[in-house]
Amino acid sequence: MEKARSAWRTSGSTATLRFDMNVYGHGHASQAVARMLSSVRVFLQSPDVDPRSALYENPQYLKLPDLPSTVIKSPTEFTGRGALAALSTETTRSEVEALFDQLQQSSFLRQISADKRVTTPLKEYQKEAVDFMTRRETGDLPPSLSLWQVHTTHGGLSCYQHVITGAKSSRVEDVLGGVLADDMGLGKTLSTLAVIVGSLDRALQFAVSGTDKPTTQWQSMVPSKATLVVVPSALLLDIWTEEIVRHIMPGTLRFYRYHGSRRHISLQDLLQYDVLLTTYATVAAEFCRGQSMLNHIEWFRVVLDEAHVIRNPSTKQFRAISSLAAHLRWCLTGTPIQNGVEDLGAIVKFLRVPLLLETPTFRKQITAAIQSNSPGRFAKLRRLLEALCLRRSKLLLNLPDPITVTHKIHFSGPERQMYNDYGDSCKRATNEAITDHSLRKANQIIIETILRMRLFCNQGSAALAGNWNSFGLPSDPQEALSYLQTSGKDAACAQCDSEIISMYQTGDRSSGVLTSCQHLLCGECRPNYEADLEDSVEDERAQCPICGQRGEKSTFILEPAKTSESPVPAAPTCSTKLLALLHHVQKQGAADKCVIFSFWKKTLDAIADIFTASGIPFHRIHGSLSARRRADVLADFEINPYIKVLLITFGTGAVGINKLVVANHIHIVEPQWNPSVESQAIGRILRLGQEKSVTIVRYIMKGTVEETVQSSQLRKLQLARGGFIGKDDEHTSQRIQEIMVSHIRPL
Ligand SMILES: [Zn+2]
Ligand SMILES: [Zn+2]
Repeated sequence: MEKARSAWRTSGSTATLRFDMNVYGHGHASQAVARMLSSVRVFLQSPDVDPRSALYENPQYLKLPDLPSTVIKSPTEFTGRGALAALSTETTRSEVEALFDQLQQSSFLRQISADKRVTTPLKEYQKEAVDFMTRRETGDLPPSLSLWQVHTTHGGLSCYQHVITGAKSSRVEDVLGGVLADDMGLGKTLSTLAVIVGSLDRALQFAVSGTDKPTTQWQSMVPSKATLVVVPSALLLDIWTEEIVRHIMPGTLRFYRYHGSRRHISLQDLLQYDVLLTTYATVAAEFCRGQSMLNHIEWFRVVLDEAHVIRNPSTKQFRAISSLAAHLRWCLTGTPIQNGVEDLGAIVKFLRVPLLLETPTFRKQITAAIQSNSPGRFAKLRRLLEALCLRRSKLLLNLPDPITVTHKIHFSGPERQMYNDYGDSCKRATNEAITDHSLRKANQIIIETILRMRLFCNQGSAALAGNWNSFGLPSDPQEALSYLQTSGKDAACAQCDSEIISMYQTGDRSSGVLTSCQHLLCGECRPNYEADLEDSVEDERAQCPICGQRGEKSTFILEPAKTSESPVPAAPTCSTKLLALLHHVQKQGAADKCVIFSFWKKTLDAIADIFTASGIPFHRIHGSLSARRRADVLADFEINPYIKVLLITFGTGAVGINKLVVANHIHIVEPQWNPSVESQAIGRILRLGQEKSVTIVRYIMKGTVEETVQSSQLRKLQLARGGFIGKDDEHTSQRIQEIMVSHIRPL
């Protein structure tokens, strides 16, 4: 308030004052108030303050007969500001989704045969996607799909009129590009690669003719024949690389991974390539440093993979991405609207759709129309989507829905006793730390306890006595990653911000390493980091380029112990959960094959011991296998009729992973802290090429922290707070106790 007032005083003009208003009153007046507010297009949102002192009801909230009449958030959620900015409700969202699924462009799409250099035969719907993309790029569209229509004035003159805004123009300004929004598994990557290969001549022409463009606008810009593909993670860089190698005739596409230390390349060298693969984080980081080579190039084409990640136009990342100069722009996404129609606004802005790219215009023309109650409120949106966007659903694959089974298992008596005793001792230790005002320590105890309890559910008592290194982390790298996932906002590379879900995997560039000062680095940034360390050496001591810590150069990057610390036990102890897994696998049909996923190597060690003792043959993917050896193992799993079981850690690199479609049973040994890790793994089996019906089996111990992990309550709390290890304040200490009581040691 004070700030706004002084701003107003100094500027002498008008000031915008944002305020939230809470409406209190008699219940019987609520309907009248609701009608009055609706008539001036004001809609009540959930309050930011806890309304526990009064009975809360939102009379504008849609009531469904089988739902409780008022869905109210729990008091802990009344902390986020900005609820007023949420423009669309859940009902609108599902209506828009339905609209997506009704788009009918197939009537005009042709199944054109792809370029011969695409060696994988395309499916019919992929050929249609290639046709759609090519025609959007060349402007060869039927009039019904253009955003402009011929308009004849009374005087007999004709001009063009925009079908959404109604603006008139003497020429058609259309966007070259669009959105490929096919469901996951329909091969958006392959379709896009086919378009890239099919347009190599056009690309070259663009690069050549662009050179002597007379306009001054791009004077400092160098035109390139390349398609810049931007993806959210290093793992996806691997997947694109793999797809190029798999589907395209060798030598057709020259491609380059512009990421990590490989960013040090000259502009001239960069211009040699047909495809450049990079991450959103790399584009954003270079943009912020203000010296981005990517911004000096006018790209023939920019493709955003998983384009829904740019849904917020106020972020640096969005500004960086939309500052890229490009002749053609594409967004690939299976979920074009995650939160609401505004997500689409960001995509429209990136595509630079003429007349609609400004956020206020988009709101006025599209969002506000939807929020009105008129019967044709979706007409403009439908028109826009039909012009820009191709979407087909997974139903095309004729894949039966996977059968999902969740086994909720009870501990044995001794296991329960041990689990509870451990929980009690951790609770005491936490309380002592809180009494000592050492909240940081209390947090660390909690994170360690969560991890140990999760491991206990799989591996039994052996998990409670794990080794810790002198830097305060579990000495097992994958467990250390779990610890960091739980304590930090997310486990991401300290230099390029790409998410890390596996550690120390040989030859896998998306896999991470850990430094003694507790930074995670992806394999691609590691050489860079080591070079910086080398440069910093003074008096035989190096300095960490991230946090400035000093030490002997060789001590910074931690290497996992080569040999396993404990010898394999003669008679493996078997937890109740792993016993249940064993029974399941033994009951598996003769024609079935299964893949067993766990996040932790030690859990897979324990499973391997049990399966060996029970005479079940299996293959196993180790992180320390070379990429070549890994491919051999996967190839054998595909064809060897005697091997029906594959053990694999989540986050194992993408190389050769398409062989997994031979399996039709997926066992997920424990719920994942980050749910996207799990869905990525499932997506590798439930994809194009899968011919059998798939069963997913999840194992969860009843009355344990696993139930909390599965419900992702803890993760939401963590994301909301920006990590558990935070400020030492009153609020934190309260929350710690709540977590302890409700999650770690349920009564
Ligand atoms: Zn990195
Ligand atoms: Zn450091």
